[in-house]
Amino acid sequence: MNVDQQEIEKFTAIASRWWDLEGEFKPLHQINPLRVDYIIEKITGQSRPVNGFNNDVLSGLKIVDIGCGGGILAEALASYGAHVTGIDLAEESLTVARLHALEKHVKNVTYQHISAEDFALANTEHFDVVTCLEMLEHVPDPSAIVRAAALLVKPNSPVFFSTLNRNFKSYLMAIVGAEYVMNLVPKGTHDFNKFIKPSELMRMIDNTPLNIKATMGLHFNPLTQDYYLSNTNIDVNYIIHCHK
Ligand code: SAH
Repeated sequence: MNVDQQEIEKFTAIASRWWDLEGEFKPLHQINPLRVDYIIEKITGQSRPVNGFNNDVLSGLKIVDIGCGGGILAEALASYGAHVTGIDLAEESLTVARLHALEKHVKNVTYQHISAEDFALANTEHFDVVTCLEMLEHVPDPSAIVRAAALLVKPNSPVFFSTLNRNFKSYLMAIVGAEYVMNLVPKGTHDFNKFIKPSELMRMIDNTPLNIKATMGLHFNPLTQDYYLSNTNIDVNYIIHCHK
């Protein structure tokens, strides 16, 4: 199976802290509003209103979130009205995700412990949107996940991937900076060798019926401790928006 058990154990060990806004997953909480707005803009073709999108902007859409973890993205998309299924192979993370949805009364999100490949065989062309963020750099064969995402999405529908680029700058920012200098995430969270260059991810996408529509970089400013999007710089963390 396309899973690195050590990766699952790493996430299992800290699963109880998925919703601790100051804990190990703080960076994911901080980037979440940015990536959610980006995804909604691409899905709907609307730009974000000053006061944010209405909470029914995604109603009627079925979304699958691959590698959902504690549900940071899945629950946010559900809060905009989508019916979201989160899948992951770390059972403890799913338990935390289910509890959090109960606590927040988010009813239209469900979670399943299943691999993307198995889920895709059972749910081919079942989803209006597929998201797979910050997950590909944790699996032995990311191209199999890309193929599963392409199978899951309906024709003429969007898929979003995000991961970390592999170069000296991403090494400095995502490993030295985030794990050692700023202690943003635990040491060993990321393995530099598993980072994926945009050209590599694009090749994986090109081997499926998906077409690339746009790329967007996501950056951390160590001085202001803020994150921001940039469509001219995909040196470190980046999102690829594609379409079947
Ligand atoms: N997508 C979420 C979580 C990213 S953390 C977000 O962006 O907020 C990476 C997640 O990938 C973890 O939850 C981990 O358990 C999951 N993961 C790692 N290997 C996996 C695999 N082979 N199949 C499914 N999920 C996996």
